[in-house]
Amino acid sequence: MAARTRVASFDLDHTAVRAPYVRAAGRYQGPRGDLVSKYDLRLVQPNEQEIPTAPLHTIEHLLAGYLRDRLEDVTLIDASPMGCRTGFYLTVLGEPDEERVLHAVATAMADVRDHAGVIPGCDPRRCGNWRDHSLPGARAWAGDVLARGFIVQATVELPQEAPK
Ligand SMILES: [Zn+2]
Repeated sequence: MAARTRVASFDLDHTAVRAPYVRAAGRYQGPRGDLVSKYDLRLVQPNEQEIPTAPLHTIEHLLAGYLRDRLEDVTLIDASPMGCRTGFYLTVLGEPDEERVLHAVATAMADVRDHAGVIPGCDPRRCGNWRDHSLPGARAWAGDVLARGFIVQATVELPQEAPK
C-alpha cells in the first residue's frame, strides 16, 4: 500500500489500549488555516466486546444532540459509529484538548444513560433504519461504559512494516 493511502487508525495497536477512552486521532489544517480535529471515542474494549446495532444506533441519534450541547462553543462536524461497533469517530472544527472532549463525552453519555421519552429522529423520514433502535439498550450500555470510566488514551502505534 502506498504511503499516502495509509489510514492512521490502522496504525493504532488495538490490543494495547484500554477502553473506554478518548484519543486524538488526527489533526488537519485547511488552506485558509482552519483546523479540523478527529478523535476516537472508544466505548468498549476492542475484540472483547461490541455494541449491538440497535443500541449503537440509538446512542448515535442521542449523541448527535447531547454532544453538541456539551461541547457548546465547539463546532461538531460529525459523530459516527465505527464499523466494528466499539465506539464512535468524532470530528470537530478547532482543536479542543482531549480532557475537554473527555468531559463532554462523559457528560453526554450520562445524558444518554438518563434519556427518557422519544428517540430524536427515529421515524422513517429522518432515519435510514428507524426500526433498528433500542433505548433500553442504549441506556444500559451508556451506564456500563460510564461505570468503567473514560481515560485519555495515547496512540500506541504498531511497528512500521518495512517497505516492499
Ligand atoms: Zn438513524
